[in-house]
Amino acid sequence: MKTAIFLGAGASAAEGAPIQSNLFRDYFNLVNRRSGQYFPEHERELATFFQLMFDIDVDHDNLDNVVFPTFEEALGVLDLADIKNESFKDFPNINFAANSGRIKFLRVYLVFLMADIIHESLKSSKDIHRQLINKLNSLNQIDDTIFLTTNYDILCDNALLDLYSLDPPKKVDYGVDFVNYKEGTFVRPDLDSIKFFKLHGSLNWLYCPTCNNLRITPYEKGVYNIMTNPSESFCKNCENMYSPIIIPPTFYKDLSKIFLSMVWNRAESELLDVEHLIFCGYSFPDADIHIKYLIKRIQKNRKQPYKLKITVINNHPGKKPDVNAEEKNRYIRFLGRQVDYTDYSFEDFANDPNIVMK
Ligand SMILES: [Zn+2]
Repeated sequence: MKTAIFLGAGASAAEGAPIQSNLFRDYFNLVNRRSGQYFPEHERELATFFQLMFDIDVDHDNLDNVVFPTFEEALGVLDLADIKNESFKDFPNINFAANSGRIKFLRVYLVFLMADIIHESLKSSKDIHRQLINKLNSLNQIDDTIFLTTNYDILCDNALLDLYSLDPPKKVDYGVDFVNYKEGTFVRPDLDSIKFFKLHGSLNWLYCPTCNNLRITPYEKGVYNIMTNPSESFCKNCENMYSPIIIPPTFYKDLSKIFLSMVWNRAESELLDVEHLIFCGYSFPDADIHIKYLIKRIQKNRKQPYKLKITVINNHPGKKPDVNAEEKNRYIRFLGRQVDYTDYSFEDFANDPNIVMK
């Protein structure tokens, strides 16, 4: 049965990534532990941003009691100011003053922050993604499986890239062309490749705004390297600096960039023939209206006479019953009563995919 596995933030959290609501707290705790030795300039600017915009003093407040904005909220105010070409009193947009443009810098710094905390927290992951992919491979189901994710980390990427060492190798198709294909530094996928669509971008994608192309940095978080090793993060062709492709869920503006549009179009067309869609670690948040729209389209625009089977796997130890009930309600009200909302965790599924795939 042709199946799609949708990996949400909960799948990465099961491996040790911070959950969204703890992202900023975990980051500033990390910065305090490192005591400013690493990237002082952008760390200081981020501290100032939280002080001036959200009245949070990350140096002196007790971080355990502070309520931080969400990543989407913090990035959202900067993105909207940038789109509307407006300023905040303390954060001017680009103007004739030499030190202007803080809004644009802060947007990049927030992406660095996210790359930094993901890098630190997943240094010792539990390899659940790898286990899932190896199981699917040994069950001969990997060729009938499509992967989709809203996560920026490269847990699933690394597990899939391991399959290149098989004989014959299994290749990965991200639904987008990389400049690496021409250079021969990453194998061009064919029709049999495993499809993997990263709907919000990825930490291993680097965009060159001059050459207008995309580079993949296999097994490496290229975006993290822009921060830690900027002198090595230049496009070899035009010698300009790479930019990340990372978009927060609520903001569609970067999707106008051709590469992410291609990913979304390919994802939609591939998902139309899928018979079973399995959500893993995804809470179906209200903010993700673009994801909901995509899922609705593939649920309702199908050619096949049969309905799309939908399974949800998002339990974890200590999850509160009322959180579960609300989440189940969110799925059912949007996708219908046939949604199978299970009690399984991502680990259960990775241990034995057949608990829901048989
Ligand atoms: Zn370039």
